[in-house]
Amino acid sequence: MNVFDRLVTSSLPLVPKPIVRRIARSYIAGETLDDLIRVARDLNGDGLMVATSILGEFVKEKEESEQAVRDYQEVLEAIAGHRLDSNIHIKLTHFGLKLDKNFSRDNLRVLLQSAASYPNFVRIDMEDASCTTDTLDVYYQVREEFENVGVVIQARLHRSLDDVRALAKVRANVRLCKGIYIEPPDIACTDAGEIRESYIRLLEEMLGAGCYVGIATHDEILVREAFRIIDRLGLESSAYEFQMLHGVLPDLRRAILDEGHRVRVGVPFGPSWYAYSIRRLRKNPTIARYVMKAMLSGG
Ligand SMILES: Cc1cc2nc3c(=O)[nH]c(=O)nc-3n(C[C@H](O)[C@H](O)[C@H](O)COP(=O)(O)OP(=O)(O)OC[C@H]3O[C@@H](n4cnc5c(N)ncnc54)[C@H](O)[C@@H]3O)c2cc1C
Repeated sequence: MNVFDRLVTSSLPLVPKPIVRRIARSYIAGETLDDLIRVARDLNGDGLMVATSILGEFVKEKEESEQAVRDYQEVLEAIAGHRLDSNIHIKLTHFGLKLDKNFSRDNLRVLLQSAASYPNFVRIDMEDASCTTDTLDVYYQVREEFENVGVVIQARLHRSLDDVRALAKVRANVRLCKGIYIEPPDIACTDAGEIRESYIRLLEEMLGAGCYVGIATHDEILVREAFRIIDRLGLESSAYEFQMLHGVLPDLRRAILDEGHRVRVGVPFGPSWYAYSIRRLRKNPTIARYVMKAMLSGG
């Protein structure tokens, strides 16, 4: 982390809550399920699919995880009731991964069972590197029982090529992202160019193996590379989807749609927006820089 990033990160708690709220508002649907429904309906109206999640992670009490499962069941019901084109994604630490891996798996099983009844799909987000092995273990375990589940691979991690090769063998449904958590150089690329190269390599590997891939990026260079790979492999637009975060580069997502590809927008919501925003900003100074830029330009 350079001096500027350290300065930005350490000054985050000093950013007044109303400013964090203003910034969070562009990335987060709001605090309630009604907020989510409103935003998802608008996005669907614009031809975009949605992936929603309830803000929450690293719970300390099992009851919080059990409540999270119930809350997600309500979200599934609302998605079906309002005929929204949305699936959901969860964090295993929200479901208790750090308390007891099997407990988090069992919570996920309950949710997958509910999702299957609609039917809907659940993706397991990938969290920091302390969670990677356990997250993939849980994914493989629930996959034996459920088809409506996917996982995430982070291009920055050195282990990801091996992970992708294993996932390709089972034709897993994988979201590919750069990885939001800054990890030490012995386990992860730290150079932006290397992360891009890794992303392209992994994308080729998975699409080539017939995996359904959620191509999650706002990086125009990667989007163009993805177009090239898709074209070269002659893939139908149903074989993959682009994924972007709510409030980030809407012009780029429109351009992707206009090229005839499908785009899913990740829309988190929930009351824990403040803790979530500050944690995210701390984890990755690049995002903190976007925020500072937005503040300075009055955005
Ligand atoms: C749908 C989706 C799901 C994700 N799930 C995970 C996950 O499970 N685990 C994980 O570790 N990471 C996840 N990520 C985050 C991802 O790993 C990257 O940290 C993030 O997408 C930034 O990388 P980028 O590919 O967009 O490229 P970058 O080079 O970082 O960004 C390209 C441009 O996009 C804009 N931009 C990017 N991010 C933001 C932002 N947050 N706010 C404002 N502008 C921004 C900037 O203009 C930037 O110049 C997800 C990302 C997306 C889109």
